[in-house]
Parts: sequence; structure tokens; C-alpha cells
Amino acid sequence: MKIGILSRKSSLYSTARLVQAARARGHEVKVVDYLRCVMNIASHRPRVIYQDLELDCDVIIPRIGASNTFYGTAVVRQFEMMNVLSANSSVAISRSRDKLRSLQILSREGIGMPVTGFAHSPKDIQGVIDMVGGAPLVVKLLEGTQGVGVVLAETEKAAESVISAFRNLDANILVQEFIKEAGGADIRAFVVGDRVVASMLRQGPPGEFRSNLHRGGNAVRIKLTPEERECAKRAAKALGLRVAGVDMLRSNHGPLIMEVNSSPGLEGIEESTGVDVAAKIIAHLEKRHAELEKRDAEGK
Ligand code: ADP
Ligand code: GLU
Repeated sequence: MKIGILSRKSSLYSTARLVQAARARGHEVKVVDYLRCVMNIASHRPRVIYQDLELDCDVIIPRIGASNTFYGTAVVRQFEMMNVLSANSSVAISRSRDKLRSLQILSREGIGMPVTGFAHSPKDIQGVIDMVGGAPLVVKLLEGTQGVGVVLAETEKAAESVISAFRNLDANILVQEFIKEAGGADIRAFVVGDRVVASMLRQGPPGEFRSNLHRGGNAVRIKLTPEERECAKRAAKALGLRVAGVDMLRSNHGPLIMEVNSSPGLEGIEESTGVDVAAKIIAHLEKRHAELEKRDAEGK
């Protein structure tokens, strides 16, 4: 296959590993900086121009950074208009980038998550605090990533001042029940297609409730319970993601989903589990591409 990896830089760990895995399986692969893609939206023949040449790919793997979601998903959509297979669809990527929208969809599907409240007016703060069962509680900036903008408010007073500070900055926030028994750890399940291919437990440093690896957390391989495995697969499916990093907390009443990542990093998961996740992604795309080819050949 001709594979295009939509990524800002070929030196990024995940990008480099995908290139390596694709070559090892005999594919032609090109790293394409999606911010330098020019879209030609003419009638009948949509095209993507990169470095003055028309791109010709069978499959794309989007690795769109959170701050470039708008342009990045537009490029993915352009490829979709050209009938190019994408590891994740543009719609699913946009959906997963909006924490609130994702949680709304997961809740409709009956997937477990921490009790979460959302309100616009500072006048409604008390109601939201009560809704999640009072302090301690977690306040999250909707636009945050890597644990930035995730705050634990231990008391009701702290909760009120954190929430009103964020609201005064006009920031959109979620208020969430604090899952204390998770003990500053969370689970990342890496879903490819219909399977969980690798999973790790991330533990924050002492005194830190956030387990993000970027914040000094460390990761070890773990075996998921059947319930956790099912929960991760259902969450990815509900958002329409075929490649996803599903983050869950271990609570007293089973796994609770925090978020589902559409461009999950490969470094932490490959290093902690020893699984060749990049090869699993390429193998999955080979299968989907072959199915599409077969369908085309049968004229369906
Ligand atoms: P980000 O997307 O910025 O990483 P998360 O929502 O994943 O933000 O939160 C960062 C970390 O904080 C999580 O990995 C988890 O360890 C911890 N955390 C988040 N929400 C809760 C919660 N409701 N209860 C307990 N810990 C939480
Ligand atoms: N680069 C990854 C992303 O933002 C971050 C790491 C992760 O959460 O897997 O999608």
C-alpha cells in the first residue's frame, strides 16, 4: 500500500515507529506535514497538494495534534472525499477532541464514567458541585491536554474558587467526581480495530493525583479484567475510533472512562509492554484496505 502519515515531524517517536513498521511490512510510506497540505476543492476531483505535487495514497494515518484539530481534520476529510482509507475518520477525530461531546456520547451508550457536571453560568456552580457529590472533586479545562488544567479541589471552598476563577477567564470546564480509590493511577488501553492490543497502568509520582507520563508518571504493563477490556472496546466504538487510546480509572464499581484519545502516543505503551503496537496498526490497515478493494472489485 501507499501509506501517508499525517504528522508534523518524522522524528516524533510515534511517527518514526509507524514509518518503520510500514516499511518492514513492505509498504511505501511518506510522512506528510498536514499543515503544509493544500486542498483543491474543485468539482469532481478533490485533490491534496503537498510540496507542489499531488498526493497519491491508498491509506492515511492521521496524527493530528490537539492544537491543529481544525485544519488537520479538514485535510483528513479531503482524503475521505478522494476515497482514501483513514485509520480514524475525520468525524471521529473531531468528536474525540471535544471532551464534553465525547462524554455525552459515552453516557448515552451506558458506558461507566465519573459523575460529571457542566454549566455555563457562575450562578449554577453550587448545583454542579452538589451534582457530583460535593468536594473533593476534579475540575477540568475542556481544552486541556496532558493533565494541564486538571485540578483537584479538596474542599467545597477550594472548589468554588477554582470554578469561579476558570469561569472568570471565560474557560469552559467540566466538574467531576474524584475517584479517590484510583490512587493516582489510571489505565491506558490501546485499541486497534476490534481488539485491545496493549495496556498499561500509569502511576503518578507520590502526592500527585494525575498519572500523565508527561507529568513524571511511570508506566507498567498490566492485564485488563474482561470488564475493562470490554469497556475500552465499547468506548472506542461509541466514538467511531478504530485506533484509540482509552483512559480509564479503576473504581470500586468497575472501570470508569475519562477520555478516549484519537492520536495515542506509542512510546509509553510500546516501552512498558514490549508490544509492537505500530505493526498492529499497519496490519489492521492492511486488512481494512483489502476488504475495501474486494468490495470495489465486486462492484458493491
Ligand atoms: P488530560 O486529558 O489533560 O490528561 P485527564 O482527564 O486525563 O486530563 O486527567 C489527567 C489525570 O488526572 C488522569 O490521568 C488521572 O490520573 C487523573 N484524574 C482525572 N480525572 C480524575 C477523576 N475524576 N478522579 C481521579 N483522578 C482523576
Ligand atoms: N501525543 C499523544 C496525543 O496527544 C499524547 C500521549 C497520549 O495521551 O497518548 O494524542
